[in-house]
Amino acid sequence: MSTSASTPLLPPLHTIDLIRKKRDGGTLNAREIGFLVSGAASGSIPLEQLAAWLMAAWIRGLSLDETRAMTIATRDSGDKFSPARLGKQAVDKHSTGGVGDKTSFLVAPLAAACGVAVPMISGRALGHTGGTLDKLEAIPGFRTALTLEEFEAVLEKCGASIVSQTPALVPADRVLYALRDRTATVECPGLICASILGKKLAAGLDALVLDVKTGSGAFLRKSEDSEYLAALMVATAEAAGTRTVALLTDMGQPLGRTAGNWIELVESVELLRGHRPSQSEDLRELSLLLAGWMIHLGGQAATPEAGYARAEAALADGSALRSFFAMVEAQGGNTKAFSDPGFHKPGATHVVLAWQSGFISSMDTTALGWAVQRTGAGREKAGEPVDPHAGIDFHARRGARIEKGQPLATLYATNPELLAEPEEILKQAITFSPAPPQVVPLVSRIFTRETAEAHLRDVIR
Ligand code: URA
Repeated sequence: MSTSASTPLLPPLHTIDLIRKKRDGGTLNAREIGFLVSGAASGSIPLEQLAAWLMAAWIRGLSLDETRAMTIATRDSGDKFSPARLGKQAVDKHSTGGVGDKTSFLVAPLAAACGVAVPMISGRALGHTGGTLDKLEAIPGFRTALTLEEFEAVLEKCGASIVSQTPALVPADRVLYALRDRTATVECPGLICASILGKKLAAGLDALVLDVKTGSGAFLRKSEDSEYLAALMVATAEAAGTRTVALLTDMGQPLGRTAGNWIELVESVELLRGHRPSQSEDLRELSLLLAGWMIHLGGQAATPEAGYARAEAALADGSALRSFFAMVEAQGGNTKAFSDPGFHKPGATHVVLAWQSGFISSMDTTALGWAVQRTGAGREKAGEPVDPHAGIDFHARRGARIEKGQPLATLYATNPELLAEPEEILKQAITFSPAPPQVVPLVSRIFTRETAEAHLRDVIR
């Protein structure tokens, strides 16, 4: 196995030297980063060395130049998709990961219904957060592993397609993402930026809308850290030639009513059908805001506000629902399941009752994400199957006044043995107070290229 490379003019590189350099606080140059990233993609660098480098990067942090180099090397680690033949602006949305975060099922068809192409390459559950692909695979027959030709055919037909990375597409991130999940090296702005943007830039996007989470359920919980991540990603993507905005959004509670797999799709389709349950209002609003930006950046509305209005009209006239169902069917999914109340068959169900009265003042949303995973909805190890029917239906939001004994959440688990731990986590994660908590805005900041660059100048000064 080779862990070194040489060119006629430059000295050979050795993985161990690069690990040591990063460990000791040095900065790797673009060639060194490229060597490590391509070694991850080809398998020429052993996983233990990659893991050591990731941990050194997590502890020391990545500079702006290292982040840019890693993003470009990740993008260039495999095949690329070119949406040029679609004849439309290609715009995607990506979230940094959350609990109950199902906006993809809404924004993709909303933007597609408004004339934007949405080539979305998504991921699986990571840590305490859910994965778009795991959720979609709860639909009987739905295929996420399409070839690039199939991806293009679905995009041409439906305007949107949501797929997994293939071994040929961004292979470096496939290796590094799974390794980070197992080595506690996820929560690092530079690594998150390279992982997300590497995938997004490989899809040849004209524009990108980022949903950067902040609060108790985000990978980066503190607002200053998530602001830095948002600014870093906008500046990095813009430097690579993709128009990008980032919305900093609240993950201090699960988004919407449900967190799991099938139950998240049901909630999304309910909104696409034009229903407005109060428990899903934050999900509806955030989806319209994100879709509004996508439609604007995709040239189909003069402003994000006009994009929001177009997205709202696509919800009202059913065109977004038709787009979603067309995409599901084009990817092999059976949409009949959405009209069959008997399809949802969890192995065990349990209603958690409020153990005291008061206002729900805070939620440890990361803990709630682990509770969802423990029902069977997520996986302990990469490659394990997930239970499509497992998850949690939350009956009350932060700020709600609750009486002792009132239903707080319904747990759907794979079997009765998997009910106790999530219930215990829930009881630790939800706090009550005698007075209502402060209202937290759904979107606290928006970064465009100018504000992102100014922010980075301020924090790095
Ligand atoms: N989503 C990704 O694709 N990568 C990360 O590192 C975190 C969230």
